[in-house]
Amino acid sequence: MIEFHDVQKYYEHFHALIDINLEIDKGETVVLIGPSGSGKSTLVRTINGLERIQAGKLIVNNHDLSSPNTNFDILRRDVGMVFQHFYLYANKTVLENIMLAPRIVLKMPEEQNRTEALKLLDMVGLKEKANNMPSQISGGQQQRVAIARSLAMKPRLLLFDEPTSALDPEMIDDVLQVIKRVTSVSDMTSLIVTHEMGFAKEVANRVIFMDAGQIVEDDQKESFFQQPKTERARKFLSKII
Ligand code: ATP
Ligand code: MG
Repeated sequence: MIEFHDVQKYYEHFHALIDINLEIDKGETVVLIGPSGSGKSTLVRTINGLERIQAGKLIVNNHDLSSPNTNFDILRRDVGMVFQHFYLYANKTVLENIMLAPRIVLKMPEEQNRTEALKLLDMVGLKEKANNMPSQISGGQQQRVAIARSLAMKPRLLLFDEPTSALDPEMIDDVLQVIKRVTSVSDMTSLIVTHEMGFAKEVANRVIFMDAGQIVEDDQKESFFQQPKTERARKFLSKII
């Protein structure tokens, strides 16, 4: 589903992703962790073309992002992304936020769109907020709407970049439960940047640890948490847990 081959990413002279080699298969739930500034957001953002790479090969859902001819609009239909800040449309209701992209991009018929949007809202526990404006619901609820909105496009791949780090502590759990539910669908592939180690242990099949632009460890969850191979990962874990 995702393949990085010797990928390099620079911000001008700064080498932000160094020799990235990574394969993520359909259905995997991969958690990406590492210190601040290690390149986690950069890596995630290259996958839907929000950041371009300068060298190497990057294939996402059969699109070659290293080619100059990539059609990013088509790629992004299949790649849902949930950010730290939710970016809901402030002047549209919760329901409208979810229905917008399917209407415009997929030309989904109105009734089907509404029915599916309400189903998604129900899944994230917010059906009764369908007609509220984003400003009238809590941060955790806004993030659950953002997740429902990304699912409305029926993505094959979901990217999460610190989806709970802007939330008040008491909101975090509800959002994590929703993420757990959506990522456990068997053919959904997900890559999640998070500092929530308890959550990582619960949902991940696999953990990737980055430091200073490089992938330092890439392992099954059990071995990573029980026996990190490198000193850098051990240090990171001892600080964060
Ligand atoms: P955090 O945990 O703080 O979110 P991160 O692991 O997501 O950190 P990135 O945001 O990917 O880190 O940044 C990786 C490195 O690239 C950092 O040193 C950062 O300063 C640099 N960087 C990120 N975006 C840009 C940019 N647009 N221009 C120049 N440098 C950038
Ligand atoms: Mg980041």
